[in-house]
Amino acid sequence: MTIQRATNITWHGSAVTPKDREELLRQKGVVIWFTGLPASGKSTIAHAVEVELFKHNHLAYVLDGDNVRHGLNRNLGFSPEDREENIRRIGELAKLFAETGMITMTAFISPYRADREKSRNLIGTDRFIEVYVKVSIEVAEERDPKGLYKRARAGEIKQFTGIDAPYEEPENPELVIDTNVHDLEESKDLIMKYLREQKII
Ligand code: ADP
Repeated sequence: MTIQRATNITWHGSAVTPKDREELLRQKGVVIWFTGLPASGKSTIAHAVEVELFKHNHLAYVLDGDNVRHGLNRNLGFSPEDREENIRRIGELAKLFAETGMITMTAFISPYRADREKSRNLIGTDRFIEVYVKVSIEVAEERDPKGLYKRARAGEIKQFTGIDAPYEEPENPELVIDTNVHDLEESKDLIMKYLREQKII
């Protein structure tokens, strides 16, 4: 998708730089890109990290799957093309958020490796933290907080990731969190530790 319909537009630069904003906020503007099967824990972990960061006077924001599909991406479905466009728009949005100095977290299945790589390249690898929230399909299916696996097994939902649509595991993620092994508290702590080690906070 490289269609550029508007032609007479120029990028309006700001006198306040991303670095200035980061100094004000005392944090680095990054994108923590969670990826994993449905019910792996992406959204739950991201929101727990947001709360923890807030407690330590850091500003973070979670871009969440369902919320974005309600608004910005409401014209998109779950075909491979629409999934690609869904992730492309989220990548662009997350990039703008990170430029504000925000610790931006995206909690989307984002099943295709190539789409995630595009987001990494767009955002810049120094600001992109890919977190693979790993889980076995059995455990995910047992959790099934929204009852979606059940509906997919019953054939009521088509192209459901993990059942009849593929999930491509990350090859070199910055972090892997196995939620078969780590509970929510430990998962959150692993992210916080990484952010401190990398001097993002
Ligand atoms: P996703 O965003 O990946 O679809 P959700 O965060 O919506 O997943 O749901 C994950 C479910 O699994 C929640 O009901 C959560 O309470 C539960 N859960 C169990 N263990 C963990 C864990 N270690 N980390 C995160 N969530 C967990």
